[in-house]
Amino acid sequence: MLCDRCGLRGARVFQAHSRLRLCGECFLEDVRVRVWGEVERWRMVEPGDVILMALSGGKDSYVLLESLALKFKSSRLLGLSIVEGIPGYNRVEDVKALVETAKSYSVDVLVVSVKEFTGASVSEMVSEARRRGLAESACTFCGLSRRRVMDYYARALGATKLATAHNLDDEVQTLIVNIMRGDTVGVLKIHPNSGAPEGGVRRIKPLRKIYEWETATYAMIRGFAMQTTECPFIDENPTLRAGVRSILYEVEKLKPGSLLRALQHLDEVLGEEASKLKGAKIGVCPRCGAPTSSTRTLCKLCELLEAIGVGEPRYAKLRGEIRQNIAE
Ligand SMILES: [Zn+2]
Ligand SMILES: [Zn+2]
Repeated sequence: MLCDRCGLRGARVFQAHSRLRLCGECFLEDVRVRVWGEVERWRMVEPGDVILMALSGGKDSYVLLESLALKFKSSRLLGLSIVEGIPGYNRVEDVKALVETAKSYSVDVLVVSVKEFTGASVSEMVSEARRRGLAESACTFCGLSRRRVMDYYARALGATKLATAHNLDDEVQTLIVNIMRGDTVGVLKIHPNSGAPEGGVRRIKPLRKIYEWETATYAMIRGFAMQTTECPFIDENPTLRAGVRSILYEVEKLKPGSLLRALQHLDEVLGEEASKLKGAKIGVCPRCGAPTSSTRTLCKLCELLEAIGVGEPRYAKLRGEIRQNIAE
């Protein structure tokens, strides 16, 4: 059977949501064109922007890297790879493969470890929390640390956009979880119009309309040397999200395209409300200088680290540098 798009090569991929049978090349092109369309639709990249891409080394991050590298000049792109410090999960070869692939597009990747940034690795945080009988999950420590590393380096490197490789499945899961929690701001924050709070770097998610199976298929066709090791803390993943994930998977199987249509619909409906979040005033953590909710004494990361005995996180000493970068 021939490809529904080019009619030249044999069909390899059945794209359930479009009902098209595509050859490898047309499938790759289809994904990239949709990524670029999404970037344009929400003006994710503006003239003069420098984009810092958070690259985990997994399938999604390779798709992000390639689709942006084929669209924008390499001088406007930077990569950031975060080593969490989870034995058996972070492998030197994976980071090396990522850096090499980026280099083939003339994109530099900065590799930063959570330990050098905060003073403790994610594994150390988790074992200390357990020892002290704290209930915080590994994912909380990991997620907060990674987000902070990204925000810090986006500013420190002078990037004006921070791109993450969240895919359509991730986005819809987060939406549903936030709806179930009654977190309206969380729902609006997913919208590309929500921008950055005062003084922050805007986050963009170019892959937000690409299904997870599509990023996996893309990476497989391209033969990327991606990280496939599963995180040993996978069982600590919030249970609500895991439940939503499996239900959404069933829904999509029953009615292909459901997730895509749901996000497209919410994008149209929530745009105006989401714009109001742009440049929202926020408080500043007295310990590290990072932006935080004005109702908090310390930011969530400083508070968590203090609870496990890290009262002077390394990043707190970098606050002068952060300030300077905001001022520039
Ligand atoms: Zn084709
Ligand atoms: Zn803080």
